[in-house]
Amino acid sequence: MTTSPASTSPAAPDVFAKVRGHERAAILAAAREADVLPYFRTLTSPALPVVRMEGAERIMLGSNNYLGLTGDERVMQGARDALETYGTGLTGSRLLNGTIPLHLELEEEIAAWMGTEDAIVFTTGHQANVGTLGTILTVGDTVIADSGDHASILDGCLLSRAKLRPFRHNRLDKLEKALQRSATDGGGVLVVVDGVFSMEGDIAPLPRIVELCRHYGARLMVDEAHGAGVLGARGAGASELYGVEEHVDLRMGTFSKSLASCGGFVVGSRDVIEYLRISSRAFLFTASAVPAAVGAALAALRVLRSADGPALLQAVLDNARHLRDGLEALGYAVVAPQTVGGDIAAPGVVDGTIVTPIVPVLVGDDWKAALLWKALYDGGVFVNTALHPAVPPGGALLRTSVMATHDTAVLDRALDVFAAVKRDFEAEHGPLPGPGA
Ligand code: PMP
Repeated sequence: MTTSPASTSPAAPDVFAKVRGHERAAILAAAREADVLPYFRTLTSPALPVVRMEGAERIMLGSNNYLGLTGDERVMQGARDALETYGTGLTGSRLLNGTIPLHLELEEEIAAWMGTEDAIVFTTGHQANVGTLGTILTVGDTVIADSGDHASILDGCLLSRAKLRPFRHNRLDKLEKALQRSATDGGGVLVVVDGVFSMEGDIAPLPRIVELCRHYGARLMVDEAHGAGVLGARGAGASELYGVEEHVDLRMGTFSKSLASCGGFVVGSRDVIEYLRISSRAFLFTASAVPAAVGAALAALRVLRSADGPALLQAVLDNARHLRDGLEALGYAVVAPQTVGGDIAAPGVVDGTIVTPIVPVLVGDDWKAALLWKALYDGGVFVNTALHPAVPPGGALLRTSVMATHDTAVLDRALDVFAAVKRDFEAEHGPLPGPGA
């Protein structure tokens, strides 16, 4: 297959023209040439606290495996049992030949965990957002979304053809303005926010958002992808942490993070979830999640809901605080622990503050972030890199994240690498942003 012009007509523009001379491709090529490309590196081991990547051992500080359950024997067994019983794939939609009892058990268990009437399982978290927003919203409605919301939320909003009113990240004054303006739009209004934002790791101020939605008569959806399995006594997410679950109309989550698998879910009232089951195109017109993925997610959820769950929730948040404090002590620019209010008692809350497992390190310049990433990688630490357009221009981050199963000695080894890398990097390239930047 080639990308040579498909048409003989000189006037017809070529849809492939955009793939040539693409700015993003040029940047990737330059980074690859300098061997500092932080993307598409290959793992050759399970996604555990220490992994093998490209022939060397690296401490994994770039995973969403927050509870560290991807290698847990109970979760592996759940996947094996499902594979043995139902085979490798179901080759059909949930509507037709793609539903096995495990899908239904998983939906029931998720609804019980989240305390809702019903739950629906999608094949990925991305599809859960697209398939919910694209179905529940329609032309004439308004959707108000935080500018930091995940791409799948934006995709769902755009697909729905509802009027999109974005507001500046976590700025409640802007949210309120958008709610006021929507009053004259004429349709239903939905506010959608991430509970924990995926790049910066900060938590949406849900109590105030709930108040605003109630005041202006808007529905609220919270994406709990990074909050589920992490925040609150049951690990049900930011809505649980803040005690506002009952006031959140729809909550979405994924299996691709704490639940150690792949897939997504949405919970809410029975009528809305039933409507999604018969109307959501991203649910109906795609093959259902493969048995091993469903079996693993179900087993991971059962671990979280077992007597072992609280210790895992405590461990991931303790590890996050340990890494954050260590990075700050080394002079890196890391966010301060977030104030959640003195009356909240939940794993990880210390003096009314909390740190999520996502600990971003601000670097600023994209190229410097790539160089720093490479130095850490060569030192044996893998972190994620968020460059523009994933973050605003000049806001490049190294996105570090921890698991419940990182032991302190491993995190301290990583911090030693961060210390040495910073010394060498600053000697050559000048100072990095410091705490408070
Ligand atoms: N929402 C958020 C906030 C996410 O970070 C992600 C994945 N990174 C998704 C949704 C999509 O989830 P999945 O990976 O299961 O498709």
